Amino acid sequence: MGHGLFEKQIGNPQAVEGWRRMTEATKPDRGRLRIDEEECKGCGLCIEACPPKVIALSERMNHYGYRTALYAGSGCTGCGICFLVCPEPGAITVLRLVSPSATRVAEGAAA
Ligand code: SF4
Ligand code: SF4
Repeated sequence: MGHGLFEKQIGNPQAVEGWRRMTEATKPDRGRLRIDEEECKGCGLCIEACPPKVIALSERMNHYGYRTALYAGSGCTGCGICFLVCPEPGAITVLRLVSPSATRVAEGAAA
Protein backbone atom coordinates (compact mmCIF):
# COMPACT_ATOMS: atom_id res chain seq x y z
CA MET A 1 0.00 0.00 0.00
CA GLY A 2 1.90 3.03 -1.28
CA HIS A 3 5.32 1.54 -0.52
CA GLY A 4 5.29 -1.31 -3.03
CA LEU A 5 8.75 -0.67 -4.42
CA PHE A 6 10.29 -0.63 -0.93
CA GLU A 7 8.46 -3.84 0.00
CA LYS A 8 9.79 -5.59 -3.14
CA GLN A 9 13.31 -4.38 -2.48
CA ILE A 10 13.63 -5.70 1.04
CA GLY A 11 10.99 -8.47 0.82
CA ASN A 12 10.17 -8.31 4.52
CA PRO A 13 6.67 -7.02 5.36
CA GLN A 14 7.43 -6.79 9.11
CA ALA A 15 10.46 -4.61 8.47
CA VAL A 16 8.37 -2.44 6.14
CA GLU A 17 5.74 -2.05 8.86
CA GLY A 18 8.41 -1.09 11.39
CA TRP A 19 9.86 1.44 8.97
CA ARG A 20 6.40 2.85 8.28
CA ARG A 21 5.67 3.21 12.01
CA MET A 22 9.05 4.83 12.56
CA THR A 23 8.50 7.43 9.83
CA GLU A 24 4.94 8.06 11.05
CA ALA A 25 6.21 8.45 14.62
CA THR A 26 8.53 11.28 13.62
CA LYS A 27 6.01 13.41 11.74
CA PRO A 28 6.08 16.98 13.01
CA ASP A 29 2.99 18.44 14.64
CA ARG A 30 1.36 21.34 12.85
CA GLY A 31 -1.42 21.53 15.38
CA ARG A 32 -1.83 21.06 19.10
CA LEU A 33 -4.82 19.31 20.53
CA ARG A 34 -6.28 20.02 23.94
CA ILE A 35 -8.96 17.70 25.25
CA ASP A 36 -10.90 18.59 28.35
CA GLU A 37 -11.33 15.16 29.93
CA GLU A 38 -14.24 16.28 32.07
CA GLU A 39 -16.23 17.47 29.02
CA CYS A 40 -15.46 14.54 26.71
CA LYS A 41 -18.16 11.82 26.55
CA GLY A 42 -15.99 9.30 24.74
CA CYS A 43 -18.25 9.09 21.69
CA GLY A 44 -15.29 8.45 19.38
CA LEU A 45 -16.41 10.80 16.59
CA CYS A 46 -13.13 12.69 16.65
CA ILE A 47 -11.20 9.41 16.48
CA GLU A 48 -13.12 8.32 13.39
CA ALA A 49 -12.87 11.68 11.69
CA CYS A 50 -9.18 12.51 12.25
CA PRO A 51 -7.45 12.04 8.85
CA PRO A 52 -3.99 11.04 10.17
CA LYS A 53 -5.57 8.94 12.98
CA VAL A 54 -3.71 10.55 15.84
CA ILE A 55 -6.53 10.43 18.42
CA ALA A 56 -7.33 7.36 20.53
CA LEU A 57 -9.47 6.45 23.53
CA SER A 58 -7.71 6.66 26.86
CA GLU A 59 -7.81 3.85 29.42
CA ARG A 60 -8.69 6.42 32.08
CA MET A 61 -12.27 7.31 32.89
CA ASN A 62 -13.53 10.76 33.70
CA HIS A 63 -15.99 11.59 36.45
CA TYR A 64 -18.94 10.55 34.24
CA GLY A 65 -17.36 7.13 33.78
CA TYR A 66 -16.44 7.70 30.12
CA ARG A 67 -13.14 6.75 28.59
CA THR A 68 -11.96 9.96 27.03
CA ALA A 69 -10.19 10.89 23.82
CA LEU A 70 -6.49 11.67 23.93
CA TYR A 71 -3.80 12.71 21.50
CA ALA A 72 -1.97 9.50 20.74
CA GLY A 73 0.66 10.25 18.20
CA SER A 74 2.48 12.84 16.23
CA GLY A 75 1.55 14.45 12.95
CA CYS A 76 -1.54 16.49 13.85
CA THR A 77 -2.07 18.77 10.85
CA GLY A 78 -4.14 21.34 12.72
CA CYS A 79 -7.04 20.75 10.29
CA GLY A 80 -9.66 21.24 13.03
CA ILE A 81 -11.93 18.39 11.87
CA CYS A 82 -11.97 16.84 15.35
CA PHE A 83 -13.18 20.17 16.74
CA LEU A 84 -15.91 20.40 14.07
CA VAL A 85 -17.31 16.90 14.65
CA CYS A 86 -17.19 16.95 18.46
CA PRO A 87 -20.72 17.32 19.89
CA GLU A 88 -19.48 18.47 23.31
CA PRO A 89 -18.78 22.21 23.51
CA GLY A 90 -15.36 22.84 24.98
CA ALA A 91 -14.19 19.23 24.87
CA ILE A 92 -11.67 19.84 22.07
CA THR A 93 -9.53 22.83 21.28
CA VAL A 94 -7.13 22.84 18.34
CA LEU A 95 -4.27 25.29 18.18
CA ARG A 96 -2.48 25.71 14.87
CA LEU A 97 1.28 25.87 15.32
CA VAL A 98 3.15 28.54 13.37
CA SER A 99 6.28 27.32 11.61
CA PRO A 100 9.58 29.10 12.45
CA SER A 101 9.90 30.31 8.82
CA ALA A 102 6.39 31.81 8.90
CA THR A 103 7.28 33.55 12.19
CA ARG A 104 10.39 35.04 10.58
CA VAL A 105 8.33 36.31 7.64
CA ALA A 106 5.78 37.84 10.02
CA GLU A 107 8.51 39.48 12.09
CA GLY A 108 10.14 40.81 8.92
CA ALA A 109 6.84 42.30 7.76
CA ALA A 110 6.31 43.98 11.14
CA ALA A 111 9.82 45.51 11.22
S1 SF4 B 1 -6.72 18.87 14.14
FE1 SF4 B 1 -7.00 17.38 12.43
S2 SF4 B 1 -5.12 16.16 12.42
FE2 SF4 B 1 -5.16 17.25 14.40
S3 SF4 B 1 -6.09 15.78 15.84
FE3 SF4 B 1 -7.77 17.07 15.00
S4 SF4 B 1 -8.59 15.97 13.19
FE4 SF4 B 1 -6.58 15.05 13.74
S1 SF4 C 1 -15.81 13.85 19.64
FE1 SF4 C 1 -15.67 15.07 21.54
S2 SF4 C 1 -16.92 13.96 23.03
FE2 SF4 C 1 -16.53 12.55 21.33
S3 SF4 C 1 -14.67 11.41 21.98
FE3 SF4 C 1 -13.98 13.16 20.77
S4 SF4 C 1 -13.56 14.80 22.29
FE4 SF4 C 1 -14.82 13.23 23.30
